[in-house]
Amino acid sequence: MKQSILVTGGAGFIGSHCCVELLDHNFNVIVLDNLSNSSIKVLDRIKKITGKELHFIQGDIRDKVLLDQVFTQHHIDAVIHFAGLKAVGESMQVPLTYFDNNISGSITLLQAMQQHRIGHLVFSSSATVYGENYPSPLHEDLPTAQPTNNYGYSKLAVEQILQATAKANDLWSFALLRYFNPIGAHQSGLIGEDPNGIPNNLLPYVTQTAMGKREVLSIYGHDYPTQDGTGVRDFIHVVDLAHAHVKALQYLFTHKPSVGIWNIGTGTGYSVLEVVKRFEQVNQLKLNYQFVERRAGDVAVCFADANKAKQDLGFVAEHNLDDMLRDVWHWQSQNPDGYA
Ligand code: NAD
Ligand code: UDP
Repeated sequence: MKQSILVTGGAGFIGSHCCVELLDHNFNVIVLDNLSNSSIKVLDRIKKITGKELHFIQGDIRDKVLLDQVFTQHHIDAVIHFAGLKAVGESMQVPLTYFDNNISGSITLLQAMQQHRIGHLVFSSSATVYGENYPSPLHEDLPTAQPTNNYGYSKLAVEQILQATAKANDLWSFALLRYFNPIGAHQSGLIGEDPNGIPNNLLPYVTQTAMGKREVLSIYGHDYPTQDGTGVRDFIHVVDLAHAHVKALQYLFTHKPSVGIWNIGTGTGYSVLEVVKRFEQVNQLKLNYQFVERRAGDVAVCFADANKAKQDLGFVAEHNLDDMLRDVWHWQSQNPDGYA
């Protein structure tokens, strides 16, 4: 029998790519998303790519009654939990909104899972839980550090809640996936990242500048102790990241660890300037950019030690930087206004 996966936040950037991967791997997929940062149109696109249907429920992970209905009406073998808010700057302005969505929402989800005796969960964590002070490559064994922003705090808090919850009984089997910098888009150009308003992240800003929607890309900091003075990050293709979730699920089903923690990155860092130059070259265009002051809270270098995911999950990222930059431009140029 096919296994069924509840995907919270499955209409979002990473979630939608994960749905494709799950359907391609023959799972039944049930998406729960309140569409606060995504479009209903993504569902048709997923169907177009996979030729398969998923079940969509528009709703909120904080809605206990709805969750009870979802778990009663559907047979669910595991949950992949993407739902949450992710804008670092906004999290400093409305911390309680972030704690409510990301922390309370996760607790409500866990309570419903416990009530329905569903113990497998893959959680979207972030490299932000390592804080600012460790040199890269970052290994999972490093102690976590207090994040400098409320978004990061919410991720660390949920990691800690999951670890404490898992200790209490043997129902639970959790995968904490610490993402590095997901970019790119599905090769079809049908799904991709569609941020609200002015993008915070590098790649949506790059593509919107290339489109002429933004005048100039500001590169934050030209005086970091890196090869060219710009920040270095571990960019990973979102399709690879989605694939890592399937690997993590399979690991939970076969090994049932209480808690497993894995970095999901490529293990290679590229500088912001390298990304900009490769983007121009791969897509044969010119990007208007300028160097400006460093952005508060940014570290110089951040990349993963990707060995644990390779050893335990058999996960290795397959796409290189050029693939990521080509695919993200394909998505943006095919969909100049995203899903609008
Ligand atoms: P996204 O905003 O595109 O997707 C999140 C989805 O969750 C959206 O579709 C949104 O509508 C939904 N959602 C938000 N709050 C909800 C709620 N209370 N109930 C139901 N649905 C809700 O973000 P993404 O980039 O796909 O990120 C997915 C997850 O990965 C998030 O938890 C994010 O914090 C985490 N993450 C993202 C990155 C990144 O760079 N994109 C890096 C590390 C971790
Ligand atoms: N960055 C930049 N200009 C932008 C957005 C980001 O120079 O408009 C840089 C940022 O300083 C960091 C890297 O790009 O060095 C990745 O930033 P992003 O916000 O995408 O992800 P983060 O690593 O902060 O999670």
